[in-house]
Parts: sequence; C-alpha cells; structure tokens
Amino acid sequence: MSTKHTKKVFEVTQHSIMKSALTEAAKALNKDEVPIGAVIINKDGNIIARAHNLTEHKHTQAAHAEVLAIEKAGKKIGDWRLEGCWLYVTLEPCAMCYNLAVLSRLDGIVYGAESPLFGFSKVAENDASPFLPHKALAQGGHSEKPLVYNSGHLPAIITGIEAEAAAMLLKTFFKRQRNKAE
Ligand SMILES: [Zn+2]
Repeated sequence: MSTKHTKKVFEVTQHSIMKSALTEAAKALNKDEVPIGAVIINKDGNIIARAHNLTEHKHTQAAHAEVLAIEKAGKKIGDWRLEGCWLYVTLEPCAMCYNLAVLSRLDGIVYGAESPLFGFSKVAENDASPFLPHKALAQGGHSEKPLVYNSGHLPAIITGIEAEAAAMLLKTFFKRQRNKAE
C-alpha cells in the first residue's frame, strides 16, 4: 500500500468517525442542548465511547460531551489512562476538556468547527475568554506559565474535520434559541 493511499484511507476514516460524533451532536440538538458530540476510538480504531453535551439536563458544566466520553471510555477499558486512544469532537474543546484529555493521556484530538471564544487554542490570545486564571498568574509575575498541566505527553491535534456539518448544527441550535427569545 502506498503512503498516499494510506493517508487517503486515514482521512476517509477520520470523516466516518467524525460522522458518529455528529450523530451524537444531533442527539444533543434534539434535547435542546448545545449540539456537541464526541466519540473515542481505541488504538484499533474501534469506537469505545459515544457522548453528547448534557449541560442543561445534568445542570453542570462537567457534562460537556468530551468529559462524558472520557468517563465512558475509562469505564469501558477499566483504566483512566487512555493511551493509544483518540478523541473526536464536533467542536474545538474548551480549556477544561482539553486539559482533561491531556491528563487522561489521550494520543490525539480531532475536532470539527473552531470555537472562537471557548476553544482551548484561543485562550492565550483572546481577552474575552472566560479562562483567565493563567492570565492572572502571568500578570502576577509568573509569565510563561504553561497553559496546561505538563504531563510530558501532549495529544496530537487535527482540526477542521466535518467542520461545516458541525457548524450547521450549532447554527440551527442558536437560531432556534433566538426564535424562542423573540
Ligand atoms: Zn468542554
């Protein structure tokens, strides 16, 4: 098998796994939750956990899709160490979820749409971001503090997979919310 072919197969697989995450996001939409879905695959590429955002139903920000998926994956394999596993999530994870993925030793994160306000990659440069503690530390003289817990093992990041489909679900949700408010 040529390298090019392998890459192509890998890309096709990424899209098909992300479609499972999109199915989860659609479930959240049907429950009037912000439509974000996540799945986790093991090193063999099999899905071992599926979850969607349940923040409103569970009355806690700890019910982000990624958190629930990581919990399920840990239970499934009987270990909190998710080495060899990859998280697929329809929207760029927030700082909480990114850090949880780091601590859980995930090998990688694949996400769809960008999250300009809450996305972990935007925290450092976005003054409007709610994730400010590290900035407070930086202003207190502890500059160059790492943004994340440094476990010496940072997940690989792949972005933009099925981004349009993920963004479309979010648009549908927020349009519906606006119509309700009117
Ligand atoms: Zn999150």
